[in-house]
Amino acid sequence: MDAIVIGGGLMGSAATFFLARRGLRVVLLERGRVGTGATVASFGNIRRSGRYLPQLPLAHHSRALWGQAQHLLGRDVEFRATGHVRLIFGDKGLADMRRFRQAAQPWGLELEEMDAADLHRRFPGLGPTAIGASFSPDDGSGNPRLISPAFAEAAVRLGAKVVEGAEVLGITPTDAGFRVETTRGSFAAAQVLNAAGAWGGRIAERFGEVVPIRAHGPQMGVTEPLPHRILPVVGVWAESGHGGYLRQVERGNIVFGGGVTRTEVDLDSGHAHYDFARLPAQLASLLPILPALAGVSVIRTWSGCEGYVADELPVMGPSATTPGLFHAFGFCGHGFQLGPGVGDVMAEMMATGRHLVPLGDFRIDRFAQAA
Ligand SMILES: Cc1cc2nc3c(=O)[nH]c(=O)nc-3n(C[C@H](O)[C@H](O)[C@H](O)COP(=O)(O)OP(=O)(O)OC[C@H]3O[C@@H](n4cnc5c(N)ncnc54)[C@H](O)[C@@H]3O)c2cc1C
Repeated sequence: MDAIVIGGGLMGSAATFFLARRGLRVVLLERGRVGTGATVASFGNIRRSGRYLPQLPLAHHSRALWGQAQHLLGRDVEFRATGHVRLIFGDKGLADMRRFRQAAQPWGLELEEMDAADLHRRFPGLGPTAIGASFSPDDGSGNPRLISPAFAEAAVRLGAKVVEGAEVLGITPTDAGFRVETTRGSFAAAQVLNAAGAWGGRIAERFGEVVPIRAHGPQMGVTEPLPHRILPVVGVWAESGHGGYLRQVERGNIVFGGGVTRTEVDLDSGHAHYDFARLPAQLASLLPILPALAGVSVIRTWSGCEGYVADELPVMGPSATTPGLFHAFGFCGHGFQLGPGVGDVMAEMMATGRHLVPLGDFRIDRFAQAA
């Protein structure tokens, strides 16, 4: 094999697809089932506003790939460019939005500013007390259940091998690259990509690369279907803390998250505990966004195990200690939007040594340098 990818979330399955597309012989090793880590738990937001500015070239590249996903993967992954509205409720939110809007322009992101009248005319029923909003017309959402299996299945059609139920137990450098021991046998390849999500830090540590990463679980839920129609994904420029966010799926249910702190997750079990005690505060934080939520039944809640690096940026790029090893993990709750781009950029790097967008800020050795 030319490459082994560890972890069958969005990053690993997309990288496997793009590696196979570049003609590499690749095997994807996933401990559970493809796409059942943080990816399936995601809210599904494909949002660029509010991002770390030097991440925007990667985010733009990824947004372009989301637009091509159906053509590339031969399947509808429910990407919809519905736009992303972010409501503003006070002076701080307005100032944050204007600062970001101006700073993001040279990075190629155009946000429209709406005043209250524009907002209420274009999106009736949203944020009646909001003083304005930003609108990012080309952003939207995708279906978190579909995207990783779609990448993995398309990769298999290109000749890649996908092995589920294969937990990586050991990785040994050899003269020809690496030997990887798993619960489903041993695999060898010239290169390895660590795309193990919240567990990526554990793999990096085996190679002397220590990353300050912790696992947290954002709290998510979905309501019964509502007749009220909201097309775009909706968030807020928060006045304090993290704001709530929501979107309405085509069947009418409102998927929601944010507005409360995330739970702690034990990496050994990987089980992201859902704390019901936080649900009333979460719903209260959503009412100013969408008053139509008052009295509506919540039919399902969940959380997921996501890796948060101390500086809230991911780790992407070659290992600083071990030639042939690459990392793409720790996406800090922003990885769904970035996933297709991460897969393509990592595959390009592994196939050619080049990368399509600047990644310097995501180097794994940034923590070693700070120490
Ligand atoms: C509740 C929630 C909501 C979110 N909402 C959004 C959103 O709206 N927009 C956005 O952009 N991002 C969002 N995110 C973040 C986004 O979902 C993640 O950043 C992204 O899915 C991470 O993908 P991944 O492939 O790195 O990790 P994962 O999907 O977790 O995949 C990693 C995989 O590695 C496997 N693995 C780990 N160790 C081993 C091993 N030793 N051997 C074999 N396999 C192993 C795991 O089983 C897992 O399947 C959200 C995250 C959560 C949890």
